[in-house]
Amino acid sequence: GCGAADVANLLRAGAATIAEHRVELIDLDRPIGDADHGENLNRGFGFVVSTLDTAVPETPGGVLKLAATTLISKVGGAAGPLYGTAFLRVATTLGDRPDLDASAVVEALRAALAGVVARGKAEVGDATMVDALTPAVAAAEAAENDGIAALLSAAADAADQGAESTEPLIARKGRASYLGERSVGHVDPGARSTALLLRAFAEAAR
Ligand code: ADP
Ligand code: MG
Ligand code: MG
Repeated sequence: GCGAADVANLLRAGAATIAEHRVELIDLDRPIGDADHGENLNRGFGFVVSTLDTAVPETPGGVLKLAATTLISKVGGAAGPLYGTAFLRVATTLGDRPDLDASAVVEALRAALAGVVARGKAEVGDATMVDALTPAVAAAEAAENDGIAALLSAAADAADQGAESTEPLIARKGRASYLGERSVGHVDPGARSTALLLRAFAEAAR
């Protein structure tokens, strides 16, 4: 199972990965955006970790709701509200159950995708984080019977491929879409950060 403390540790692992890849994410955002994605997320997840260091809520949903409100209030730009909405949807879906099994984690990933899509209206192929998260959800569903660590690992593998798949695409949403065809040839930074977060969650869940 996976309780509130475990979910807090997944978020800490996610924050550590974002800190480690801050410059990479900034560099991905520079040619097709405004070079702030790594900084935006690093600040936001930094606040999430400091908040969790003062007190960890009692349920996984409580932890994720805290992460969501922190990201929404502290991170500007597109990604803060998008990730914030994703975590908020997950928190709502999980409610106050104290412990997550594999099926709850799959449900959580589905809710995250639904939140991003509700907020940003992107479809697969628009070169956004949706291109990483959509195949990740499908892979997690297919691996549900293998347990939490394995399904997260399958989700991370699929998200890696999904992020790579954005490189030849014309961006259709967000700042990168202002470039039209000049957005071709670049991996979307939000798709990359989604893949990085899922990999961190998978490794922390082992
Ligand atoms: P900003 O573009 O405001 O500077 P960030 O650089 O932090 O914000 O985040 C950019 C990322 O947000 C993009 O790489 C993309 O993955 C994601 N994004 C932007 N708009 C959307 C949208 N409408 N739907 C899904 N994801 C989006
Ligand atoms: Mg940006
Ligand atoms: Mg910006």
